[in-house]
Amino acid sequence: MRIAELLQRQEPFLSLEFFPPKDRAQWPGFFDVVRQLRELAPLFCSVTYGAGGGTQHNTLEIVARMKQEYGLEPLAHLTCVGADRERLSSFLSGLAQAGVENVLALRGDPPRGETSFTPDSEEFQHGSDLVSFIRGNFDLSIGVAGYPETHPEAQGFDDDLEHLRHKVACGADFIITQLFFDNDVYFNFVDRARTAGIKVPIVPGILPVQNLAALKRMLSFCGASVPAGYMRDLEHVHEVYGESGVRGLGLGYAKNQIRNLLDRGAPGVHLYTLNKADTCLDIWKDFSRRDRVK
Ligand SMILES: Cc1cc2nc3c(=O)[nH]c(=O)nc-3n(C[C@H](O)[C@H](O)[C@H](O)COP(=O)(O)OP(=O)(O)OC[C@H]3O[C@@H](n4cnc5c(N)ncnc54)[C@H](O)[C@@H]3O)c2cc1C
Repeated sequence: MRIAELLQRQEPFLSLEFFPPKDRAQWPGFFDVVRQLRELAPLFCSVTYGAGGGTQHNTLEIVARMKQEYGLEPLAHLTCVGADRERLSSFLSGLAQAGVENVLALRGDPPRGETSFTPDSEEFQHGSDLVSFIRGNFDLSIGVAGYPETHPEAQGFDDDLEHLRHKVACGADFIITQLFFDNDVYFNFVDRARTAGIKVPIVPGILPVQNLAALKRMLSFCGASVPAGYMRDLEHVHEVYGESGVRGLGLGYAKNQIRNLLDRGAPGVHLYTLNKADTCLDIWKDFSRRDRVK
């Protein structure tokens, strides 16, 4: 089913983001996590697209299996990296053949170690170029990325918001945000997007922190920030209890963040699962308890 339609249901939801394991030998374990997380009844499950574009076949195969073997509603990520019309068409036709109706259209990140993005083609330089191409040639529901704290390469907040408005004008049906740790930042972003005329659903992306070094690596390129008090607490528990302390604190913080987001009217939450079942199952218990209390 198309995510654009699923989002009209107006019931709080969880959706899940996975990444394709690098090594084929890890696939059985990966699908075991998918099987466990099916219990969460996610509204949809997204699968990332390798930064270099070289693992696109894995994304395609995983979303097809999610749909056909697990009955989940997949969202395939796709980027402009290495893109040309033929390659994109082959990927997008593959989605249609597998019965997958949703795609997240992205520009892609610069390769590791580089700070600016060099497009591989004249035609596909921005996320909006991909949105236009898909909208013009394929019958899919299209999502795009949004940045509550501004994309790191943007000239400024307003400039970035204008580019987001353009992506929606080109045909995007919904927005998933970059991770953030301060809900006021998300609600401010939504307010300003609405004022700029962006009407599509804006789904907040939440990362339950599980590893301090990995968090710092992500922050170095994604443009998100961590409130100073939370970072101090993470560093403290890391020093005293190691990564298990970080996981415990990260889980509690994510639960509070999700409760507060839903209480304040967010449509649902997109969880960056990092392919880990336990944390998401724990969040799910909290989420479904909240539903029962209401
Ligand atoms: C939810 C989510 C999922 C992601 N999944 C993946 C993934 O699977 N694989 C992956 O490689 N990366 C992924 N990323 C990362 C993403 O590729 C990067 O953040 C990338 O740097 C920007 O992608 P975009 O589609 O937002 O780009 P764009 O919308 O093209 O924006 C990129 C920059 O260009 C500017 N810009 C946009 N249009 C114009 C224009 N017309 N003129 C001038 N400037 C413009 C924007 O303001 C911004 O600064 C994901 C990000 C998010 C938030």
